[in-house]
Amino acid sequence: MIPASFEYQAPKTLDEALRLLGRHGDEAKILAGGHSLLPLMKLRLASPRYVIDIGRLRSLDYIREDGAHILIGALATHAQVAASSLLRQKCPLLPETAAQIGDMQVRNRGTIGGSLAHADPAADYPAAILALDAELVVQSGSGKRTIRAAEFFVDLLQTQVRPGEILTEVRVPIERPGEGTAYRKFHQPASGFATVGAAARVLASKDGKIQDIALGMTGVGSKAYRATGVEKALRGKKTDDETIAAACAKAAQGVEPLSDIFASSEYRRAMAGVFAHRAISAALARAGNHAGTKSLAPKPPTASPRASKSKGKRK
Ligand SMILES: Cc1cc2nc3c(=O)[nH]c(=O)nc-3n(C[C@H](O)[C@H](O)[C@H](O)COP(=O)(O)OP(=O)(O)OC[C@H]3O[C@@H](n4cnc5c(N)ncnc54)[C@H](O)[C@@H]3O)c2cc1C
Repeated sequence: MIPASFEYQAPKTLDEALRLLGRHGDEAKILAGGHSLLPLMKLRLASPRYVIDIGRLRSLDYIREDGAHILIGALATHAQVAASSLLRQKCPLLPETAAQIGDMQVRNRGTIGGSLAHADPAADYPAAILALDAELVVQSGSGKRTIRAAEFFVDLLQTQVRPGEILTEVRVPIERPGEGTAYRKFHQPASGFATVGAAARVLASKDGKIQDIALGMTGVGSKAYRATGVEKALRGKKTDDETIAAACAKAAQGVEPLSDIFASSEYRRAMAGVFAHRAISAALARAGNHAGTKSLAPKPPTASPRASKSKGKRK
């Protein structure tokens, strides 16, 4: 559990960090909260020659409003996102998600930029970022580019961020009137990671229909994804429980679910449907409250004994 030796560098400005990254290329690794990188280095699954600690770049530590978006600097910790009154008021899906990440220590050190750049297949933020249609800003010595969440995650631990680039900002849209969001997660009992996680954003109409829906899934396959089959099946449809249950059977459509000691591929596929259903029902209840039609919320699905046991333990 001792990492290979490396050179530690702690730039004081973003420009300096980008210069160092440009110079060292793929021999360098960025260190933010360290909650994913350091375990990898200790296990020798990563052995960077240079570790560039961006933790002192206060210019990447902010949460602020800008027109129709909330801008979040890459160094905002999970705890800051969970506690942000601006986000709770205007984009509540992110604080709801952040509050369910790991434990207090992880939330106090881990950063939104680090979590998204690391792209752990069981991480929580990716589902929310996908459901929100967020944009991710990355910067290198040669300028900035903006990547849509739907294109950001490439595969297991792989994103569109290239060597020499830093993910600097996450841009999320402010919730619209009539919209409701929710994140529901089946916790891995030891680590807290999502065995399955579903983030739903629903725009409801007053006549009890789903006008628009976005559903981000994590934990199921090798990368987080939008469950487009479920979205297509529900757009323009009534919000009754049967319709939602039938649509949620497509939550893992086109995905090869992962299998591990905790959950088999078949179990993950089944739980994807259950947690998608729960997230959509909760989002609809909130959308209904906003639209003044509480009847939009269907009855939540019956829990599997295993899932409810785990849920009961955590909260
Ligand atoms: C015990 C434990 C439990 C956990 N439970 C959960 C959980 O329930 N849910 C969950 O989602 N996560 C969980 N995590 C992971 C945690 O959220 C991490 O903090 C997060 O994945 C990585 O963020 P970090 O800031 O620590 O990044 P680091 O570990 O510093 O970096 C991670 C990777 O991203 C790169 N990187 C970091 N910042 C940037 C950037 N701005 N631009 C480009 N690349 C960058 C690094 O080079 C590295 O490759 C857990 C971790 C631990 C140790």
